[in-house]
Amino acid sequence: MAKNLVGVRGSFFDFVDDPWKFIGQEEKSARFYSDGLLVTENGIIRDFGPFEKVSQKYPNLHFTHIKNRLILPGFIDGHVHVPQTRVIGSFGEQLLGWLQQWIFPEEMKYKDRSYAREGARQCLDNLLAAGTTTCQAYTTSFAVSTEEFFEEASRRNMLVVGGLTGIDRFAPDEYIDTAQNFQRDTARLIKTYHRTGRNIYAITPRFALGASHDLMVACQNLKREFPDAWVHTHISENPSEITQLKQFHQCNDYLSVYEKYDLVGKKFTGGHGVYLSDDEFRRIAKADAAITFCPCSNFFLGSGMFRLGRATDPEHRIRLTFGTDVGAGNRFSMINVLDEAYKVGMCNNTMLDGSIDPRNQNLPEAERNKLSPYRAFYSLTLGGAHGLYLDDRIGNFEVGKEADFVVLDWAAGQRAIAWHESLLVGANGPQTMDEAAQLLFSIMILGDDRNVDETWIMAERVYQKTVSEQTASARK
Ligand SMILES: [Zn+2]
Repeated sequence: MAKNLVGVRGSFFDFVDDPWKFIGQEEKSARFYSDGLLVTENGIIRDFGPFEKVSQKYPNLHFTHIKNRLILPGFIDGHVHVPQTRVIGSFGEQLLGWLQQWIFPEEMKYKDRSYAREGARQCLDNLLAAGTTTCQAYTTSFAVSTEEFFEEASRRNMLVVGGLTGIDRFAPDEYIDTAQNFQRDTARLIKTYHRTGRNIYAITPRFALGASHDLMVACQNLKREFPDAWVHTHISENPSEITQLKQFHQCNDYLSVYEKYDLVGKKFTGGHGVYLSDDEFRRIAKADAAITFCPCSNFFLGSGMFRLGRATDPEHRIRLTFGTDVGAGNRFSMINVLDEAYKVGMCNNTMLDGSIDPRNQNLPEAERNKLSPYRAFYSLTLGGAHGLYLDDRIGNFEVGKEADFVVLDWAAGQRAIAWHESLLVGANGPQTMDEAAQLLFSIMILGDDRNVDETWIMAERVYQKTVSEQTASARK
């Protein structure tokens, strides 16, 4: 038997398909083993299934037995700003004013390598403590901050997507850089980091309002030269932004700017998409591109409510990730993202059920806005991986995938969860998929990062909540 086999026994919950395909029967998209065994070799999943069955094949396997917890694939944060870690939760502005008042002054400090390293360290440690094992990240316009991001992620062996964040207008002179420098630095960074270890590089124009024609051409050139690189940007977040963008780029809608420079296609992600038109949704679906839904941020900056039910229209289903958008998002935890996403969905549901304006009634779309625990945790795991074109590597416990996972304590966090738990499960934890799904709903609505007990990367435990934290958050 190979010496580097690692076994983990416990209750596993993951997804094999998109729950939005199974209206009323969403459990068909999921998989639950109340007593399961995951066997990995060098961090890659070698076997997975019911303990009774799988353990017979590995009679000498030493395994870790995790009791009274739910084990899920690691969470995927599709949109986070590493250099905004220290200014998370800054008061009082919508997007454009908030950038000028709080964000650019802070991000300017990231031209200093040690400041950038410390920021990356804090950000990634916060993500791991929240159960997030993969993120797609912005850095700054300084190459050193991009280098430090990838270096710190590599130290933690995290699968990350990131890139130098290009902006040549709409920010202070000390912060912006020229299109030529951006193209040169990005090319060098792609050669250094893309597919080195677990790093993935994204060509990252910050947003089209901060990009001149020359910078967009630089991105177009880079995508042509490095077609395997990802593309990550913002789209259609705030009404003032969209008005100014249309004037500056002389375009009909936001998406058309990225289309004009051949950036919209596979491996393209636009963050937010709050005000996308039906036509833009259709074009994104056709291009097989993705949008990241960032409800914490969209509420915090007052941006608006993403139309989840439209994005999941089976006729034009787009790829989706969910994201924190820290520091406009005020939490590192994807569990909190689900909490806010659920509320966005319910508001959209009310607006489309015909009770406000019968002319806008659309019952199928209204229903698709309801974020069940299946739809929710799919979006953080297999759905997020699909959105990032990483579902061949992560997102569930399929054999051959990389073993990143999170261990959830359903009884931690605020006391109300314990009340839910006592209604839902017996002493031995959830025994059926329905019980497990109900517990997951309790966690997403009542919980937060206190429910994350352990985080594992490539079958190694990299985060464990301390005993004092467990005691503090345990039900009394
Ligand atoms: Zn953002």
